[in-house]
Amino acid sequence: MVQFAETKSSDRDSVSEPSNSSTSGLSDVDDSANDSLKRANGPGDRKKVSKKRTKRWSKDGGISEVNPGLSSKRRNSLSKAARDPRDEPERKRKKKAKVEGTVTRSPSPVIDFDGLSRPSRGTRERLEESTEQAAARLERLQGAVRTILECVGEDPDREGVLDTPTRYAKAMLFFTKGYQQNVKDIVNNAIFHEGHNEMVIVKDIEIFSLCEHHLVPFTGKMHIGYIPRDNVIGISKLPRIAEMFSRRLQVQERLTREVANAIMEVLKPQGVAVVMESNHLCMVMRGVEKTTASTITSCVLGCFERKEKTRNEFLSLVGLNRGFA
Ligand SMILES: [Zn+2]
Repeated sequence: MVQFAETKSSDRDSVSEPSNSSTSGLSDVDDSANDSLKRANGPGDRKKVSKKRTKRWSKDGGISEVNPGLSSKRRNSLSKAARDPRDEPERKRKKKAKVEGTVTRSPSPVIDFDGLSRPSRGTRERLEESTEQAAARLERLQGAVRTILECVGEDPDREGVLDTPTRYAKAMLFFTKGYQQNVKDIVNNAIFHEGHNEMVIVKDIEIFSLCEHHLVPFTGKMHIGYIPRDNVIGISKLPRIAEMFSRRLQVQERLTREVANAIMEVLKPQGVAVVMESNHLCMVMRGVEKTTASTITSCVLGCFERKEKTRNEFLSLVGLNRGFA
């Protein structure tokens, strides 16, 4: 029993925590995703939560509904006489902790139940919109582009830019088409039991993404490696997962991490490593204006995180070991 719980928790940790996520180069740092990871995980956090709950129980005699999310789990005790929560048998508490663990384990920080990954209100609206709604969206976006043209000092009615709002609006929706995709559809059950347990690498995957801070492109190459646990994923799925996440507003650090976490989640391999090198136009065309600077981010999970040898093998196979070894 205990062993089962332990395996589960270590498995969960390795899946969802990008604990070795390193960055070099000048780049914007994204904290929000990290925070949500911290919130969702870690045995320490779980302890804290259950402590808090114990406190609440003693305050209101064990029948309170302070947290509506917990009410369903407590319903049984409502019919029973109120009693000191300290009297609760050990067995029951354990069970609760386990249920809680399950909740934090799935959905993962990157993939929710419908596979959308980090959906916001707008993501769902866009995914489920009707043809009319799509047309209305395009029109609104066109209006915004016309405003941009006016604001930069152009005449939006000049012949050369007359169709620019339409063209740009369509292009923008294409650049962000990843919001309308989800991991489950992309993988589409292309996971095969092969008994293969050697490293698989897809390198030099071209990435075109938009920096969420400036809405200008960053482009580069991503290298993805994993060590299967008997199951392999259809090889073309790796670039498609990378494509899905890159066709959203991104920061490179999060993009790298989301791809790694998604593969870890759908395939459950022994480990995943993702490295990305890219050039940010917001750095090249403005700001520090360093045209040759490239930003490298990496996220290694599972055995790539634990074993330096495995990690180095991956980095040298993708030709990046010089800076990391
Ligand atoms: Zn930027």
